[in-house]
Amino acid sequence: METTSIPAMSDNSIPTTGAKAFPFPVIIHVDMNTFYAAVERRDNLKKYEGKIIVVGKKESPAIVVSADYAARKKEVKAGMPIYKARQLCPEMTLVEPNMPKYERESELLMEIIRRVAGPAAVFEKVSVDEAFIDVSAACQGTDADDSLEKAVPLAWQIKIQMSNERHLLASVGIASERFIAKLASDSCKPDSKNPCGLLLVLESEKMEFLKSFAVEKLYGVGDVTQAKLNAVGIYTVADLIDYEGDLCAVVGNDKGELLKGYVQGKDRKGIAPKGKPKQYTAQKSFRRGKMPVGDEVVPVLLSQAKEVAADLRKDEVLAVNVEVSVCYKFRKKGNDGHAQVKLPFPTDDMGIIFATALSLLDKSNLRATPLRKLCLGTTKVVPQGTTVMAISKPKSKSKKKDKNQIRLF
Ligand SMILES: [Mg+2]
Repeated sequence: METTSIPAMSDNSIPTTGAKAFPFPVIIHVDMNTFYAAVERRDNLKKYEGKIIVVGKKESPAIVVSADYAARKKEVKAGMPIYKARQLCPEMTLVEPNMPKYERESELLMEIIRRVAGPAAVFEKVSVDEAFIDVSAACQGTDADDSLEKAVPLAWQIKIQMSNERHLLASVGIASERFIAKLASDSCKPDSKNPCGLLLVLESEKMEFLKSFAVEKLYGVGDVTQAKLNAVGIYTVADLIDYEGDLCAVVGNDKGELLKGYVQGKDRKGIAPKGKPKQYTAQKSFRRGKMPVGDEVVPVLLSQAKEVAADLRKDEVLAVNVEVSVCYKFRKKGNDGHAQVKLPFPTDDMGIIFATALSLLDKSNLRATPLRKLCLGTTKVVPQGTTVMAISKPKSKSKKKDKNQIRLF
């Protein structure tokens, strides 16, 4: 495998050629490192000096939202219950999340990206700390590899400005396709094997780059799809490329076409199904003697949140609400319990969806009885990039609160 890590460069000139189709696509993915934890450390340097920071609520949902790299080294992860994080890392400092502060910080960081990338770039915010930028207009070279290399000074400049102006670090990936750019930024994080912070995947080397990844690293491959692929011997992208059978028969038509697209080097954007479902749900039924109760529900819910978040990302939408429903009895139509809540901002963040769902179960006391069936989902979505302001205009006619609405952050 041959990928290229990049030293600092200073040239940041971006010719503005206007929006049109370009022969050599150039995509940059910017992802902040341990965003919430990094913001808290920056804002309380003395207080947290030498300490391991885990961001999460003390009370229900007592879940890790973000963990710094020292905590991650001890296997602490977003979505994990706080008690479990404490077992793994007893010396950790738990910091209460401040979502409005992170949203404000996010806007400032995105503004830096827009400013540095220039008017010819196509910008897309995909979550509070992540964005794609299509810089094809400014980076056309003699061939695909030459074009990608032209994006390096620009990508480096984004990192420098974020560090200088906001004292926060980002990891940046450059590739000809979105999902490869994202894998590239993931591959150069401070806790990765190649912690350089900026990774360019040349077009001529992208298949080699992809081969080493586990299939579940691909967009749209959640626990269920992963299990189906593993069952036919597909564990890595290399296995996927070598597979001679019909992928649609293994994982269904939609996922099969998505995976074939990856193998053929097509971006997921070009192969996304046209008719997007309005509901994104993950459901699981349990047999007698295997019905989870109390803490046994947590890993099931986490797996469902992962699946729903992956599906949202695949379709490039964000959840506006989260709902859970449970069934306790066999041969019963309908649900025994149901709860839903509107999120403080639209998201496809697995940790937030999970924490919200767990909070719903607890506030409605839905996991105190063994579950026959558990369903987690969202019934309303908005396109990626939609901000909290766009969906939370105050209703002037009625000041009545939704009785199901629960404030989480
Ligand atoms: Mg991040």
